[in-house]
Amino acid sequence: MESQALEQAKEIDRKKSAGETLGALAGTTVAIKDNMATIGVKTTCASKMLENWIPVYDATVVKKLKEADAIIVGKTNLDEFAMGSSTENSAFKTTKNPHDTSKVPGGSSGGSAATVAAGAVTFSLGSDTGGSIRQPASLCGIVGVKPTYGRVSRYGLVAFGSSLDQIGPFARNVSDAATLLDVLSGYDPMDSTSINKEYKPLTDVLGSDIKGLRVGIIDELKGPQGFQREVLDAVDETAKLLEKNGATVGNVSIPASAYGLSAYYIIAPAEASSNLARFDGMRYGLRVEEQSAALTNEATRQAGFGMEVKRRIMLGTYALSAGYYDAFYAQAQKVRTLMINDFKQAYENFDVLLSPTSPTTAFGIGEKTQDPYQMYLADVCTLPTNIVGATSMSVPVGVDDNGLPIGVQVFAPPLGEEVMFQVASAIEEQANYNAVPVVGAF
Ligand code: GLN
Repeated sequence: MESQALEQAKEIDRKKSAGETLGALAGTTVAIKDNMATIGVKTTCASKMLENWIPVYDATVVKKLKEADAIIVGKTNLDEFAMGSSTENSAFKTTKNPHDTSKVPGGSSGGSAATVAAGAVTFSLGSDTGGSIRQPASLCGIVGVKPTYGRVSRYGLVAFGSSLDQIGPFARNVSDAATLLDVLSGYDPMDSTSINKEYKPLTDVLGSDIKGLRVGIIDELKGPQGFQREVLDAVDETAKLLEKNGATVGNVSIPASAYGLSAYYIIAPAEASSNLARFDGMRYGLRVEEQSAALTNEATRQAGFGMEVKRRIMLGTYALSAGYYDAFYAQAQKVRTLMINDFKQAYENFDVLLSPTSPTTAFGIGEKTQDPYQMYLADVCTLPTNIVGATSMSVPVGVDDNGLPIGVQVFAPPLGEEVMFQVASAIEEQANYNAVPVVGAF
């Protein structure tokens, strides 16, 4: 990694002195969640299964970063195979929140969020299946975006829930996030779900007037159970600030979102159980040699996967098995359709929607590790966006009584990134929260 970074830096110096045009990200450093393939550099997914796997190709997003003259300086920690909300499910290390090192940074892209918040890099990449970019962004006081499904290529991203996964940016402000997403977006023939469309640069919409825009606060995503008072207040205050700037604010119901968590924890594990079948000890990754192929497969998976990954594989396999498929998987897919329809209806009356990003600010390391359900609840506000294939982002707006960052989530319909960034930049300007690097935290 180090030698590639130095080479890339030298190449940028050369281009500069030769008077060549520099890429949009020249002069910036980027860290990449360790579930995206980087040629010649280990890509572990924070799993013993891939501890020594060195990809022979770059993910499309990595290629795009290099072409835009960014310098990739590191891979970041995550919950194993991106399953988790605190980065404590990593097989290797626990990442800490730079604002308070006794707290988690969120997850699963906790390493990517913490490193940007700490000022170690300009940007980072995360992946978001149910909230893994937005929730850690919120807990670390930075901006995190889950783009519309299909906007950013998934080629080279190690698959978790393929119908939900999407790569997106972390940055310390909305404008940086727009710059990075502009580089990442675009059609890729290597990803069959990639959208073939030209995108208007998001950097062009920043700072434009929000007068007349209609903002809806989602009824179902404001508790009261389990939601921190200060977080709910921050959403109301944000809505007031937008109103002051000419937006109209109302309440909106997304009735099916009440079933979002249940549907997600059927669909995501079902897809994961299928995707993770490839780790069989035969082709790449860990191999625990036994007398037969079946025993090798069993021993490899036993040794290579952590507890949470095994739990998901079991849940998913069960939900897909004969006799249970209709009651679980098929039912969850119906909820998915209901949620798509509910959101469609909401957008007949509103341009963007608002909710907390996370029900609470950063929680303590070890606080939820013994209670998977409590951990799953951390994503109750973020996972609806993945279920419906739309876009949303977290914008930092302030801190709670303990000085821990609070994020507000802005939702827009599929391919509604323009209006979402327009509102996010208005929020950033009004809230006046400055994500200064938390230097010296570790
Ligand atoms: N926390 C959620 C899960 O564990 C979401 C993870 C993600 O978005 N990768 O499934």
